[in-house]
Parts: sequence; structure tokens; C-alpha cells
Amino acid sequence: MAIGNMREFQKSFTEQQPLPAASIERAGEIMGSGKLHRYNTGPGETDDAALLEKEFANYVGRRYCVACTSGGFALHIALRALIRSPGAPVLCNAFTLSPVPGAIHNAGGTAIPVETDASLTIDCDDLREAAEAYGARLLVLTHMRGHIADMDAVMAVSAELGITLVEDCAHTMGAYWRGQPSGSHGMAACFSTQSNKHINSGEGGLLVTDDPDLAARAIVNTGSYMFYDTHLAAPAAEHMHAVSGEIPNYSGRMDRLRAAVLRPQLEELEARRAHWNRLYRSLSQRLSEADGIELPRRHAAAEFIGSSLQFWARGLPQDRFPDFLERCARRGVPVAWFGNPEPEGYTSSFRHWRYVTTDRALPRTQELLARLCDVRLPLTFNEEDCVLIGDIIDQSLQATRHA
Ligand SMILES: *Cc1c(COP(=O)(O)O)cnc(C)c1O
Repeated sequence: MAIGNMREFQKSFTEQQPLPAASIERAGEIMGSGKLHRYNTGPGETDDAALLEKEFANYVGRRYCVACTSGGFALHIALRALIRSPGAPVLCNAFTLSPVPGAIHNAGGTAIPVETDASLTIDCDDLREAAEAYGARLLVLTHMRGHIADMDAVMAVSAELGITLVEDCAHTMGAYWRGQPSGSHGMAACFSTQSNKHINSGEGGLLVTDDPDLAARAIVNTGSYMFYDTHLAAPAAEHMHAVSGEIPNYSGRMDRLRAAVLRPQLEELEARRAHWNRLYRSLSQRLSEADGIELPRRHAAAEFIGSSLQFWARGLPQDRFPDFLERCARRGVPVAWFGNPEPEGYTSSFRHWRYVTTDRALPRTQELLARLCDVRLPLTFNEEDCVLIGDIIDQSLQATRHA
């Protein structure tokens, strides 16, 4: 029924924007040629993956870029280059997504989850404590759901304790910290081009770094055979020769088709950021008026991308959340919940990763996740949609509290 303020939301949260016409056109050409592999180039032909790497390196302001099969694979090979002893401790946010502990495991490290602060970013006091307690010198910093940590503080702790930083920018492609692109702070940064991130090739990953040895290793790890000289954002030949044949091929290249559909989307990133932030502002404005809802605060220096929104339903007892989510869902708004005892959809928490054995209790993160909810903001929505979504969340929450 669509009466008064009990309206249902009609649009689909899983709808995607079509790819730009230039992506579709180039994809058609490539499919017509049958030459889908990045190293299948004739004389005078430049491969799309090499061009994407060059353009993306420029975009982030980094020297080298390696396109690969997924964001998780990019993290894995970045860590491969940096983990020097089996089982080495690798610090990571406790509030992250499973590809992070997965990549640490894949690269032979031991994940050491670090507490979360009230802005949903890494707790720098706990970072220091964990680094010292476990002797960890490597950190995978996830800018989870676009929440950028106080990079000044993270860089200061890292410099002081000799921590090497790998940034997980799956949710911050196109975002900035003090005007500097997200992903330009650490030793390396990894991005995802999976459909739910900021540019879409179904699956895909991009690794950027200024370190020639790390870049050379990553290129060889993706399976470059003896074609690395076709790369346009690769280190000089001497760095490639030093590792070629010395380290394994883990076969994780990006194909030409995906690279081709991504290139025109890079040019749309600024416009997408503006659109996402209009949606984010509209929904956060509406939710800030709702009794019992609290929004995470953002650092003033972070120019984030609001491609999803998180909020706390503060006063609601945990056992009432299924009822609240059910009320939202019945009116067409799927809200995910990080406090769910069972993992569901994309929303899991570190307690669900039983292969991560840690003696860290992480009470602050547990407390923060217990009442934390998550709403996706597809670019197919507009600002009025977000007001209605906010109405539905607010009304569902009040109905649950008074049920
Ligand atoms: C999506 C994601 C990744 C990895 O991306 P894939 O391309 O799916 O492997 C890593 N970290 C976070 C926080 C993500 O959301």
C-alpha cells in the first residue's frame, strides 16, 4: 500500500548503473577481435590493461600500478612482497571485510586485529599497543566503508614504530585526505573494481606503489611471463630482471576486456563522488532528525565518498534488531547489521573468521558493531529516494521500540 507516510520504497538496491557508452563500444571491439588477453598484442598495438595501469597510477599519483584479478589478490601479492618470515604478525582493522584476513592468510601472515574508534577507523592507541605486544611491523589499513582514519596519526605511529603501511582502498577510490588521493600514503595501496565498489568490471583489482621492488614482484606474481616490457607503469628493466624467474607466477592478471571497460569509468569518478555525496547528505540529514539514531563522525580532512551509510540504532536492545530489520525490509529497504551473531550477505565481523585465532578480545569493536547498521546507496537513486529511505528507517525504528 502506498498511503501517507507508510509508503514502500520501490527501487531496487541491487540495480547497477549501465557502463559508459565508451566502455561498451571498446568492449565490443575487443570481443570482435577475440584478443581478450592483455599480452595478445600485435605490432604497434597498446594493450588496454597497460593503459589502465598508467592512467590509474597517474590518478593516485603513484609511479607503478599492477592490474590483477581482484582487490583481494592485489592485497595478497602486496603482502607477499612484504612478509619476510612465515607466520609474521600483520596488523589490520578488526572492522574490515573478509578479503583482508584472507589476503594475510594467503600471504603466510598472522592477522592481528586492531580496535576501532568512534569514527569507525583504526584506534591508534590500540595500534601502538598491538604493534608492540606482537612485534608487528606491517599494517593493512582498511578505509572501511569509506571512513578514512586520521592519516596524520596513523603515519606518525607507523613512523615511530617502523610499521610498513599497505592501504586497503576498496571503499575510497576517488576519495582524499588533506587533498591527497586515498592510497597515496602507504608503501602500497590496493583497490577493487568489483561491481559494488566505485568503478565496475565485475571483478578486478589495482595495486599501486612507488617501490620498484614491490611493483616488480607484484607484476611477476600476477603471471607476466616475459611480457612485462609491455607494461606502461612498471619499474625499470633491472628491477624486473632481478625478480623474474626468482618468484612464482600465481596467475592473477587482469584481462583486456575488464581494463577496457574500466578506463572510461575513471573519468566518471569525480561525478560519481558528487552524486554519492548528494545521496549520503540527503539520507544522513534525514536520519540525524530521527530519535535513537547516531551517525559516525567524519574527520574534517577526509573528502570521503558516501557510497554507503552506517548508523547506530543506539537504544535498541540487540534482540530487537531482527524485528527492526524485518520492518525496514517489508517496506523495501534492506538494512544490514554488523552486530548480527550470524554472518549475512557482505556483513561479517572478525568473530566470524574462525581461522583468525587471536587472543585479543576487542571489546570496543564488539560494542561498536553490536548496534551498527549499513545501507547501500546505489547511484540509480536520487535525493528524494534517500529521504523516503530515511523515513522508512526512522518509522521502522520507532515502531520496533514501541512494539
Ligand atoms: C571488496 C573489498 C576488498 C576486496 O575486493 P575484491 O575485489 O572483492 O577481492 C577488500 N577490502 C574491502 C574492505 C572490500 O570491501
